[in-house]
Amino acid sequence: MSSSEKTRGIILKQGRDGPVRRRRHPWIYSQAVAQAPEDASPGSLLPVRAADGSVIGWGHYSPGSLIAVRMASFSTEEPAADWMEQRIRAAWDLRARLTLDTDSYRIVNAEGDFLPGLVIDLYADTAVVCPHTRNMEASIERITHCLSALQPDLKIFLRRDEHFARVEKLAAASGYLRGTGDGTTVIREGAVPLKVDFAHGQKTGFYLDQRANRSLIARSAEGRTVLNLFSYSGAVAMRAAAAGARKVVSVDSSRSALDLAAASAALSPGLPQGVFEWVQADVFSYLESPAACDIVVADPPPFARRRVERDGAIQGYLMLFAQCLRILPPAGMAFLFSCSGAIDRPTFQHIVSEAAVRAGRAARLLQELHADADHPVSSSHPEGEYLKGWMVHVQ
Ligand code: SAH
Repeated sequence: MSSSEKTRGIILKQGRDGPVRRRRHPWIYSQAVAQAPEDASPGSLLPVRAADGSVIGWGHYSPGSLIAVRMASFSTEEPAADWMEQRIRAAWDLRARLTLDTDSYRIVNAEGDFLPGLVIDLYADTAVVCPHTRNMEASIERITHCLSALQPDLKIFLRRDEHFARVEKLAAASGYLRGTGDGTTVIREGAVPLKVDFAHGQKTGFYLDQRANRSLIARSAEGRTVLNLFSYSGAVAMRAAAAGARKVVSVDSSRSALDLAAASAALSPGLPQGVFEWVQADVFSYLESPAACDIVVADPPPFARRRVERDGAIQGYLMLFAQCLRILPPAGMAFLFSCSGAIDRPTFQHIVSEAAVRAGRAARLLQELHADADHPVSSSHPEGEYLKGWMVHVQ
């Protein structure tokens, strides 16, 4: 091998190859990179080398991004030309075996399906493709082709994510890649129809990750009054009402989220009049004089996306959860969630217990809650497990 051959690609700093080599960690931060080719175009697939020049895998390069490389393979060999299609097909087949009680689920969960930088959600007749990196954006035609081969009549919609568009300098705008429509559809979760706006809604349009937890909440809700905090488009409310809740009061600050909720409610005209109450408000102000309830659900947006925000986030969760537990009657139930990547499971459990102390309530932690099975977490990438929750019973 010539000396130029030995330096082709990305070279890591001394001692920074461990996580990739030993743990198959899929990310390399920019501080770990000693040398990268100046002429490499963003998103290009390059060999990744330890400081001694030995190849430890292949990855896609994102110059200027905090995550400089996302690994495509952990072999010395260059990945097969169709590595991406192989993994999309494997992700598709896995979902087919999960037999979820819905027509809508996550088809590709980025690192959790060994496809860093790619999220694909299926909403009934439409797959919503959301690239988070230059490489995935450049591969849109390949991804579209692969999905169309798996299901020829599938509509495919590209959803631009403003956060990743900024940090990865992505250019593509939202729009249909296959088929046509108005950017919305109606999905089914359990037996409940729900309206999804994948062109303008939050994330790719809907919180598929909470499906299993919504089922659990619904099963506890018969004959009860539910306070549904941070309701978004009302999926928890719809599921609880369909399961026989006496009343569901939903609170969200977003007008467009509550408009979507009203559209979903109109799809279930058989539900009793007056079961729903929709309140546009800041949850923290609302909780100063909340409606009486038997069950409270708190599913706030992430308080800490980064480690520096962690301490403030812990205080925020403590305050919110303590108030949720305080307002419950004896034998009340709470479903408390965090989707902050920087709060790990042990810390989250500690927060829930501490909130009970603050609220002066004897609480029992009944069940630990996760994202549903269509959101796999790679054992090499524990950061992928962002959603945590506890089902709590108070005396
Ligand atoms: N539980 C929902 C998803 C909740 S997402 C589901 O299953 O679909 C979080 C929601 O919190 C978003 O809809 C956002 O608009 C709302 N939100 C964020 N900050 C808020 C605040 N301070 N007060 C009220 N709602 C807020």
